Amino acid sequence: MDAIKIDSLTTDLKYVVNAFFESSTLSCYTCNTCTVECPVNKTVGRLDPRKIVRMAAFGMKEELLGSVELWLCMQCRKCTNVCPQKVEPTSAIYYFRNLAVKEGFVSGEFVKVTDEIDEYSQKLRQYIYASALKAKKNGERLNVHELISGAIKGLNSESETSESTENGFKIDKLMFGEFPEAKFVQCLTCRECTVSCIVSRSIKAFDPVKIMRTCYVGKEDDLLASPELWLCISCETCTEVCKQGVKGSVLISRLKKKAIEKGVLPPETESEFAEIDRSIHEIRAELITRAWDKRKEIQSFELTSEIKKVIGS
Ligand code: SF4
Ligand code: SF4
Ligand code: SF4
Ligand code: SF4
Repeated sequence: MDAIKIDSLTTDLKYVVNAFFESSTLSCYTCNTCTVECPVNKTVGRLDPRKIVRMAAFGMKEELLGSVELWLCMQCRKCTNVCPQKVEPTSAIYYFRNLAVKEGFVSGEFVKVTDEIDEYSQKLRQYIYASALKAKKNGERLNVHELISGAIKGLNSESETSESTENGFKIDKLMFGEFPEAKFVQCLTCRECTVSCIVSRSIKAFDPVKIMRTCYVGKEDDLLASPELWLCISCETCTEVCKQGVKGSVLISRLKKKAIEKGVLPPETESEFAEIDRSIHEIRAELITRAWDKRKEIQSFELTSEIKKVIGS
């Protein structure tokens, strides 16, 4: 890219953007924490929230609105949660997406397709984690490619993935003393964390409040054996939004650790599950990029056939 000529740029953009969210792009001191922590960037390497924030500060509107990067973001808020300057890259990206639609860079139909891809990616995770957990409990090593192909076939043949079949349970013991750092007994069940969680948005069976309440009533063993724990992407949004100071993300990461420590799952589980997520991020990014390339004729984008092309079957 040629050197940026600041004079030729949309100089009022930084003010428009800054009015939209609470902090200022100009507060960014380019520490790079957001980019290092972004789960999409970590795996796919094509989403740089720091760069987006700096482009906004420079007023590079055309370049921003014409970039697929805005759509690779899954709005998990991890970048916002870790920013020491409270810059809110997530809100900036959300703002630019809306502007891209308003200014005709993409259509509403394109946005629907990207939403569909996001929902599909989460359902794929749910399906794969359920099978992967069974395999790990049987002492098997995971074959990520086979798991993904099986899940895609399974999802295509089902109208809805299986949801929890739990019929209610008795209280074992109240766990006031467990995981004190997570402060989960302070939960008022307002569900702010649930509505802010990007995983809950796509997977009805996944709910941070349910995990907290299940722990609260002493069903720790059920939780340690549950695939739901592993669906959490550790974005920390539930913790950031909770007015009661409950640290849902901390609780879930302690439970994952305990599942390994207690031998419910073998030690290699975490690295194998990380590989599953890496593969799903790659599939999602490839699908979003394909939708982006077809944005002018988005009606020709058919998710099922694009998935087949992406996984090569
Ligand atoms: S974490 Fe915040 S201050 Fe650091 S680069 Fe990102 S936006 Fe800038
Ligand atoms: S919201 Fe999540 S996916 Fe989007 S840039 Fe921030 S960390 Fe990355
Ligand atoms: S936001 Fe906090 S108080 Fe509200 S349901 Fe979630 S953990 Fe409970
Ligand atoms: S439950 Fe997990 S995925 Fe959901 S907001 Fe909390 S940390 Fe993020």
